Amino acid sequence: MRILIIEDEQPLAEAVSQLLMKQKYITDICLDGNSGLDSALTNVYDLILLDIMLPNLDGFEILSTLRKNSIMTPVLILSAKEDISSKVKGLDLGADDYITKPFSSEELLARIRSLYRRQFKSHNDNCIVFSDLRLNISNYELSCGKNSVKLGLKEFIVAEVLFHNTNQIISKDLLIEKVWGLDSDAEYNNIEVYISFLRKKLYHISSKTEIKTIRGVGYRLEAGDD
Ligand code: CA
Repeated sequence: MRILIIEDEQPLAEAVSQLLMKQKYITDICLDGNSGLDSALTNVYDLILLDIMLPNLDGFEILSTLRKNSIMTPVLILSAKEDISSKVKGLDLGADDYITKPFSSEELLARIRSLYRRQFKSHNDNCIVFSDLRLNISNYELSCGKNSVKLGLKEFIVAEVLFHNTNQIISKDLLIEKVWGLDSDAEYNNIEVYISFLRKKLYHISSKTEIKTIRGVGYRLEAGDD
C-alpha cells in the first residue's frame, strides 16, 4: 500500500513515514500544500495523510481540489485543529477520517487499517478474498483452504493490485508504478519475474485461481474452473 504524507512539520512527517515503513507501507512525503496537491494529482496512492495548516495551500483546498478532480483516494486528516467545525468541514469536503494531533502510533495504524478495510470491503478482518484465495494484508499470507504461503513485499503488492481489480486487466506499467514508484527504471521483465513467483505460490497452495496473461496488455486474476 502506497501512502502520501502531506505534512509541513518535517520531524512529524518523518516519524510517521518511519512508522509506516516499519509496517511495510511505501510512503512519499510532501512538506507544503502545492507539492502535496501536485503529488496527489499525478501519482496513484492508496491513502493520503493530510495536514490542514500547510504553507501556500491548506489541506481543505487540497481535499476539495482532489474530489473535484474525481480523485477518490481515501484521505485521513491529521490536524492540530481540534475544534468541531474544522472536523465537520474536513468530513464534508470528502475526508474519510480525522485524527487530532498529538495521536498515538497505535491509533494512527488502527485507523489506516480501518480505512483500508472500508475501501475494499474485505470479507473479514485483514483479509481480501477472491475465489478460493484469501490475502491477509497484515501478515502477507496468501491462503487457499488449509494451505498458505508467505509473500515477500513486492509479491504482496502485485497480488494486492490484482485482488483489488479482479474485473479488469492490470497493465504492467501500473504494476511497476505500484511496486517501484513512478520514477523507477524497472522494466517489464521485473514484473514478469514477480508474476511467475506468484504463479508458483498459487500452484504450491493448490489454488485453482490463475493469473492470466492478456498478451500485449497485462494481467488479470481469474477464478479457475471447478
Ligand atoms: Ca501544519
